[in-house]
Amino acid sequence: MSHRVAIVGAGFGGLFAARALRRAPVDVTVVDRTNHHLFQPLLYQVATGVLSEGDVAPAIRDVLRNQRNARVLLGEVIDVDLQARELVVDTVGERSRIAYDSLIVAAGAAQSYFGHDEFAVHAPGMKTIDDALELRGRIFGAFELAELEAEAKRRDTWLTFVVVGAGPTGVELAGQIAELSRRALKRDYRTFDPADARVILVEAAGKVLAPFPEPLQHRARHDLERLGVEVRLDTLVTGVDEEGLDVTRDGVDGRIDARTKIWAAGVQASPLGAMIAGQVGATVDRAGRVSVRPDCTLPGHPEVFVIGDLMRLDGLPGVAEVAMQSGAHAARTIARRLRGDTRGRPFRYRDLGTMATISRFRAVVSIGRVRLTGLAAWLTWLLVHLVFLTGFKNRFAAAANWAVAFLGHGRRQRTITERQVFARKKELG
Ligand SMILES: Cc1cc2nc3c(=O)[nH]c(=O)nc-3n(C[C@H](O)[C@H](O)[C@H](O)COP(=O)(O)OP(=O)(O)OC[C@H]3O[C@@H](n4cnc5c(N)ncnc54)[C@H](O)[C@@H]3O)c2cc1C
Repeated sequence: MSHRVAIVGAGFGGLFAARALRRAPVDVTVVDRTNHHLFQPLLYQVATGVLSEGDVAPAIRDVLRNQRNARVLLGEVIDVDLQARELVVDTVGERSRIAYDSLIVAAGAAQSYFGHDEFAVHAPGMKTIDDALELRGRIFGAFELAELEAEAKRRDTWLTFVVVGAGPTGVELAGQIAELSRRALKRDYRTFDPADARVILVEAAGKVLAPFPEPLQHRARHDLERLGVEVRLDTLVTGVDEEGLDVTRDGVDGRIDARTKIWAAGVQASPLGAMIAGQVGATVDRAGRVSVRPDCTLPGHPEVFVIGDLMRLDGLPGVAEVAMQSGAHAARTIARRLRGDTRGRPFRYRDLGTMATISRFRAVVSIGRVRLTGLAAWLTWLLVHLVFLTGFKNRFAAAANWAVAFLGHGRRQRTITERQVFARKKELG
């Protein structure tokens, strides 16, 4: 029997690990609770109608179809039995166990509301395809419902969009919603001008794009404001309800009336991390990430790798590149061990830089000492995303949708379901 490798999660970490094992003498089992690999960095474009969900979320089964040593199972891993070396999997109520010789845990992270999970009902996050489609329904639904609203003040609350959190996701979302209202929807409504929509970006810290060098932070803020986004820094959200948000700044309480709120602040690692760490007494940080050994293994369990957003190591950030490289590192370590080389090699991260788009033709990019802004940065962003987008079909479809959205005025993916709009109207009365 070949060495059995189980991989939990087919995100950036898990999928890269699986692919890196394609020539190894192993049987790989990938377990994910969804059927797709999600390219999270482009999720905001699904929410704002630029891309379709299929463009950014190919079926895992399709991606691994030609990898003969890999199988894909749909299910949620609810426990890991480290002693028996088995995963406990739940698939729509059916329990099963999967035995492994090596395990790679790459279950990623979810949205964190910093102890205020009740905010989620009114301010959905942006982590999954379900989230992006929910937000698409809310964003385009808000414009539809504004068209029906006779009273100006009520209409304004439909036309106010608040994004909480000015990290890359919040900045990209705010920029896209502003561009949607000012460009893409220009001639679509009769009772109001979509360009009057307010887009407000609220951030508890004193800057936008905190992980970026300071000049790029300033540039991003400047570009957002030129687009018409109101940037409110040092502002803490203290309450969220159907009609808006309560905020506080310098001890002064305030209120923003807005029907559409989006939460893009904070991440919490999968609870699977704490579950595994608890069994061996490993440390878990406040964000739920497991402290691993320098080779990404769980203390006392060299056969278990914890990688990507779930791993805490040397202050590495929760970004796609860390997940991909740590996934490949785990795979290489397993393959080496099978060749008899049992020396543990530390994971060395190669920082390939960070980037964020603000609108079409505007982005910020930081690669080593190189800093790019404006069109040059945007073209770099476009190229990198085309190269990294999983699957040729997806690249082709994304390029076609981008051509329509960026060169023309349209948004091809504006479909929202009947259930979405009417459920919302009913919920709000
Ligand atoms: C909106 C958004 C934008 C981003 N933009 C960027 C960007 O521009 N650049 C960048 O570098 N990074 C970006 N990131 C971060 C990047 O996407 C993550 O760092 C990366 O996805 C982490 O990879 P991962 O494999 O650890 O986890 P993920 O990619 O999150 O994958 C986890 C997988 O595990 C599955 N899973 C979770 N729990 C279970 C379970 N119990 N059982 C079975 N399956 C499970 C999930 O379904 C998922 O498929 C962004 C993230 C988000 C949310």
